[in-house]
This record gives sequence, structure tokens and C-alpha cells, in this order.
Amino acid sequence: MNTPYRNASIAARDLAVVWHPCTQMKDHERLPMIPIARGQGVWLYDFDGQRYLDGISSWWVNLFGHANPRINAAVREQLEQLEQVMLAGFTHEPVLTLSERLVHILPAGLTRCFYADNGSAAVEVAVKMSFHYWQNVGRPHKRRFITLSNSYHGETLGALAVGDVELYKKVYQPLLMDVITVSSPDCFLREPGCSWEEHSRRMFAAMEQALAEHADDVAAVIVEPLVQCAGSMRMYHPLYLSLLREACDRHGVHLIADEIAVGFGRSGTMFACEQAGIRPDFICLSKGLTGGYLPLSVVVTTETVYQAFYDDYTRLTAFLHSHSYTGNPLACAAALATLAIFEQDRVIERNRILARRMGAATAELAGHPHVAEVRQTGMILAIETVRDKASGGIYDWRERRGLRAYEYALAQGALLRPIGNVIYMMPPYVIEPEQIDWLAGVARGAVDAACA
Ligand code: PMP
Repeated sequence: MNTPYRNASIAARDLAVVWHPCTQMKDHERLPMIPIARGQGVWLYDFDGQRYLDGISSWWVNLFGHANPRINAAVREQLEQLEQVMLAGFTHEPVLTLSERLVHILPAGLTRCFYADNGSAAVEVAVKMSFHYWQNVGRPHKRRFITLSNSYHGETLGALAVGDVELYKKVYQPLLMDVITVSSPDCFLREPGCSWEEHSRRMFAAMEQALAEHADDVAAVIVEPLVQCAGSMRMYHPLYLSLLREACDRHGVHLIADEIAVGFGRSGTMFACEQAGIRPDFICLSKGLTGGYLPLSVVVTTETVYQAFYDDYTRLTAFLHSHSYTGNPLACAAALATLAIFEQDRVIERNRILARRMGAATAELAGHPHVAEVRQTGMILAIETVRDKASGGIYDWRERRGLRAYEYALAQGALLRPIGNVIYMMPPYVIEPEQIDWLAGVARGAVDAACA
């Protein structure tokens, strides 16, 4: 490539000034940093002319490829009109059209959109709003939250508190609010011969018990519908959500659906909650909301919740929460272009075909001596590697087997970033069937590399 920049020189400059997210920086003494010059469709290109298929949609955000012409055009057009205005006391066309579109496509009854600028901030909003709702309606004791084991809702202190991934949470525990943690319906842990549905039903008993015991003190239950993504892509049956909705209603507790990772077609339906036919009291959306272009998040809630905050100012019931970039017009324009693609291209239907291809292309891995399970929900496919298949003995995390898989995939030209011992594919929806087959081949090699 005829450019003055090369990977090595950029990486060296980077390491002098940038502190990277979710990274032990010392790893980069050995592990090369990969400077990306540009993106096109499913591909990311570095400065040395190498390309990488973005097999995990750049942390699950990208839906329709990098440099998508339609989203590019929408952002460019918006840029000529208005780049940003505060959303308190002001509004703009992209945010109100986006709100109308979201209310139209979300489960009926979710009618009020409150914006923030990243997933964790949306979780903070939902948690604060639920707590505050109960204050406003004269139930101040309802201030606790029920969460599932192995759940993940973000890294800010409130979001971290309602999550349960020890690796991210443990050190900050003294700073976090106390939550009630109920065993996850994670179907990887089901007994042999037990179906996902039956396991999810059985696991609901613990949730029912927690609700019965604590309902007077609990504001909301928060869950990731169907897939605990950061929790090693563990999955469960929609029945659990149906049972949870019914029980939350019965016990007078809010249900917060964190669809930040699974929303916008990832689970096989536009929103994962649709598969259980439920409407949560709060739905948190981000990531794919803008097609992976710009930071934006939204919490959509009900008229009942909204009305509990609506009063004379002096009664001090308003939700006085804000972020500077709330509802940024450029991000809203990207989101509108993203929703237009969903409509114009019949994306959910195409995804069904792609998802089947992902399943077929990885099916034989189930027989691999170090693969305990290949599981899938829509456009998420996960391969659980184990040391010993018969006993279920797992690899010690210190062996960093996933890192071997990551490095192997990069060498082949694919971005796969395993979570612990789980290698997964979560590609942009513009991936071609042949590219799925190729990526599955890389995943197969990555399993071998990890388990060697
Ligand atoms: N909730 C879920 C389910 C997520 O997967 C994530 C991000 N991985 C978050 C919340 C946090 O979003 P963000 O990284 O934008 O803060």
C-alpha cells in the first residue's frame, strides 16, 4: 500500500497516548495493535493492506456494514442541517421522527422515548426511572432490583450493580448498590435430556420465590431477553420471559428489558421480547439502533410511568436526568436510515436464511472433542469449548485459550473476539452466505487453535 503510514508506526504512537477499553495494556508488549484505516461492508482494512471480516459486528453494533452508502448519505445530509442542539426545551426533526418510528415498531404500549448516548447510560435511566416512579406514587420502599446471575448491563456503577459478570464487577463491589440475584435460566446448564423450554420453566421457580419474598421492596426485575451476551452468549427459552411478565404484573414489579445487544433483529425477531409476546415496562436500546454508526441509546416506557412524573414543577416529581448529547441529531439520522433499511430490504426475513446458514456451517463442530455445545439464537451463534467433554471440565481462565482463538482468526483475516472459552459469530446482516461458510471455517480452526 502506497501510504506513509504502516500498522507498526501507528501502533507505536497509539501506545504512547491511548488507554484502550477492556484491555490489559501490558498485553500489547506482545500482541500487536491493529490500526484500522477504513471499513467497507463486512470488512475492516488496516494500514498494511490486510483485511479482517468483522465477525462480531465491532462489539455487536454494526448491522448493515461499514460505510453503508444509505446511512452515510443520511448522516451527511443531516450534517448540513444541524449537528447538535440540547434536547431540553428544544427538539428537532430526526429525534421526533425516530421516536414516532420506534413507538410504531415496538410492542404496543411503549409510547415514551427518553434518550441517552450509550447502553450503560440507558440502563442507568431505566433503573432510576423505575425507582423514581415508585417514589412518585407513594411506594418509597420499592427500591431494590432483581437481576439474573451471569447478566451484563454495562460498566457504569448502577449498570454494573445490576449485572453479574464477576470479572468486571468484583473489584468495584464496595461501590455498588445491593441487588437480589436469581439463578439464570441459562440452558447450557440444563440436565441431559431436558429441553430449553422445560429448563427455563424449572428455573423460573427461583424468580417466583424471589418476587414473592421481596415484591414490597423491589422496584424492577432487569433481564437481557433470550441471550446473556457478555455472559458468554448463554441462552434461554422465551417461555421464561412470558412467565416473568405475568409474575411481575401479579407482584406489582416493573420489568426492564435490556435489548441493547439483542434488539434490532439480532435474536431473529426485531425485538427479542416479541418471541415471548410480552411488553416490558422499560426497554433499553442502543448498539444497532444507529446501525453501529454513532453513540445513541433510548429507554422507551409506558404512559403509566410517564404520567407518574407529570405534574406541577414545584411538586418536584420530574425526571431531572440529562446527558449533553441526548438525542443527537446526527445519531438520530443514522438511526432513521437504519430503520429504513429494515423496511426496504426485508431484513428480518433475510436474516432467517443467514441464521440457518450459520447453523448449518457450524453443525459439525458439535462433534468436536473439545466442544460442549454449539448454540444459536437468530444471528448469534456460540461455540462452548471445554477441556473435557465427558466430565464438562473447563479450561482454567489463566490459560487464555480464547486469546489463542482471537489471534488465530486475525491471522486468517477474521475478527472473532471470544468471551472466555466461548467462540462466537455475530456478523453484520450484510454478510453473504459464502462469507458465513468461510467464517465458520475460521471458527473451526480457532477452536482447534484454542484447544490444542
Ligand atoms: N447492556 C447489554 C446487554 C450490553 O450488551 C451492553 C454492551 N455490551 C450494555 C448494556 C452496555 O452498553 P455500552 O457498552 O454502550 O455502555
